[in-house]
Amino acid sequence: MHLLSIRELPKEDIETLLKLSLEMKTAWQKQQPLPSFAGKVVGMMFMENSTRTRVSFEQAARRLRLDTCTFGVMGSSMRKGESLKDTVLTLMHEGIDALVIRHHCSGAPYLAARCFHGPVINAGDGMHEHPTQALTDGMTILERKGKINGLKVAIVGDVLHSRVARSNMWLLSKMGADVHLVGPRTLMPRLAGRLPATLHYDLFPALEGADVVMALRLQKERMGQGLISSLGEYASMYQINQRTIRFAAEDCLVMHPGPMNRGLEFDDRVPDGPQSVIHQQVENGVYVKMAVFTWLFEGSKAKHEVAV
Ligand code: ASP
Repeated sequence: MHLLSIRELPKEDIETLLKLSLEMKTAWQKQQPLPSFAGKVVGMMFMENSTRTRVSFEQAARRLRLDTCTFGVMGSSMRKGESLKDTVLTLMHEGIDALVIRHHCSGAPYLAARCFHGPVINAGDGMHEHPTQALTDGMTILERKGKINGLKVAIVGDVLHSRVARSNMWLLSKMGADVHLVGPRTLMPRLAGRLPATLHYDLFPALEGADVVMALRLQKERMGQGLISSLGEYASMYQINQRTIRFAAEDCLVMHPGPMNRGLEFDDRVPDGPQSVIHQQVENGVYVKMAVFTWLFEGSKAKHEVAV
């Protein structure tokens, strides 16, 4: 079993993982016994920058008595020209039991899963998906709102380059949310009409009455030239700030996967305001990864009948 995308994950598995994540949180906070995978080693292959995702996988592993072996492109033989496939095979023969992989190429975790003997977890691949971030966001919404079904969720900004937006729109729509995407035309996927969401180019109809507002970072590292006229103009049209957030529901949740750029997708107030759950997202990221490890290592034993 692997966790490669949310699009391909059946709704029952999403529900199981959300439920398990909430259970992990309760167990950790109440100091109840947690699953232990002592003796297993997780390879953490980070070929792109990461703070939250990498540290939260390491924290989750530590809490479940898993050992980790972290490496990135700088310190590995990939710098000497070794392919992804050969790197994965090397790790496998060195006795690594599971692989967490972040890669700038969309689809890299699928290639890894084809040659690796154990579970592979996609920790963000190019512009494709970021399944554990969507599970983290789903868990946070469930905690705060008690449900996902029927909520209006506005995802704002650089949808085109965002793997977070892609995983979230699949997860949230499968769970019954009404998903709205908004951003400049140049930052919307070309086949956006086929996605399970309503598209907007103006901020206000997307924000109107929204229960959740999820802001995205401009993914400058994945952007070509000429996609936005200027950062100032982008901010004037799509920034979530004290003025624009008033269009959303009064009790809306403000979310961001991080890292955020204050002054661009946000002003300096909203991320620290009462509606922001950004720190809760960061904390929940650890419980989600504990749930994902448990689900992958225990398989059907970790499955629960759930209704969320
Ligand atoms: N941390 C998220 C990701 O890796 C979001 C971002 O970088 O903007 O996709």
